[in-house]
Amino acid sequence: MVEVLLVEDNPGDARLIAEHLRETSDLVNDYHVTHVERVDDAVRKLTDGSRVDIILSDISLPDSAGEDTLIALNRAAKEVPVIFMTGTNDEGLAVSAIHKGAQDYLVKGRIDGEILARAIQYAIERKKFQNQLNEAVTRARLASQRAELLDSQKRQLIKLNRSKDDFISIASHQLRTPATAVKQYVGMFLEGYVGEVSPDQQEILKKAYKSNERQLTVINELLKTAQLDAADFRLEMRNCSVNELLAESKADLAPMLKLREQRVTFQKTDDDLALADCDELRLVFDNLLENASKYSENGKRIRVSTMSAKGIIKITVADQGVGIKQEDLGLIFDKFSRVDNAMSSTVEGSGLGLYWVKRIVDLHDGTIDVESTPGKGSKFTVCLPLAQA
Ligand code: ADP
Repeated sequence: MVEVLLVEDNPGDARLIAEHLRETSDLVNDYHVTHVERVDDAVRKLTDGSRVDIILSDISLPDSAGEDTLIALNRAAKEVPVIFMTGTNDEGLAVSAIHKGAQDYLVKGRIDGEILARAIQYAIERKKFQNQLNEAVTRARLASQRAELLDSQKRQLIKLNRSKDDFISIASHQLRTPATAVKQYVGMFLEGYVGEVSPDQQEILKKAYKSNERQLTVINELLKTAQLDAADFRLEMRNCSVNELLAESKADLAPMLKLREQRVTFQKTDDDLALADCDELRLVFDNLLENASKYSENGKRIRVSTMSAKGIIKITVADQGVGIKQEDLGLIFDKFSRVDNAMSSTVEGSGLGLYWVKRIVDLHDGTIDVESTPGKGSKFTVCLPLAQA
């Protein structure tokens, strides 16, 4: 059933149109006509919730004409197509209404049932297509507005992130200088530069010295993180001997290893030149070795090895320590990721080391992986491109 709203003030014309529609009504196109005489009544009908599929309207009505009629009808029901009916003398009005969005116009006196039925069918189809097109355009416009909004939010977040990095960097710098001075002064006290220190005083000063060392470690880790997160961070690439860097890291860690009676074995490849920032790479090895030692009981063994093949050097640091639970393996490279293990209550750390270790490895186009069995130990594997021969 097609619901037709007929707006026609001439009773003769209205009767004729209704007659034509009745004539062509069949099972496919069954027309139901509601007849009103004025635009005001049409608007009321369109807004009272009843269904209207097509509006057939005289172009000149007692309360409105042409474009104004179209505007009023569209305002009431934008999605309903409008066909105007004109006399031969006001065809011009109808043409300009078409330009403003009316679907069609028919000249009275030249209308028959078939013409009317075809015009109605085309108008409904065309309007449906137009409505879909308008919806698509609106959706596209909304999507583009949303994309713009996201883009501006992203820019804002990048800016905020940068100020956060700057803040951490400046704050850590400001904290480091006085903390270093405290270390020197406490050290002078401990070494007796300002007179004899009693055993009780020594004990307290040693505690102060250790706390201060911890504080400096955290400040340095924060600084390193801010430095690596900064957009302008650049590596200084040259050929580095990975074996030498590992040997240096091991030598630096010797006092801790001795204290904990831990042994490091080292299996080396000859082909050990990586194209890298040697200072940054040294920090990676320092961190992996230090973790291997601090998360292992006294007396355990740490195995370090380098292997090279197919343009890649593979470095492994394996310990016999507490290990990492399977569900925590994906977390340990995140910022501030201290995960619980049997030793975490006694071992100190900031949870930043592995974050910047991975960052450095990523900047070198390398990879870092970890395998671990709780209670048995962990193995960290770093792969880096070898320097070109
Ligand atoms: P932290 O300063 O806490 O050592 P890291 O970023 O170096 O920070 O390490 C993150 C977490 O990963 C540690 O808190 C620890 O739980 C775990 N972890 C790192 N290395 C090892 C290891 N060799 N053995 C066991 N757990 C480790």
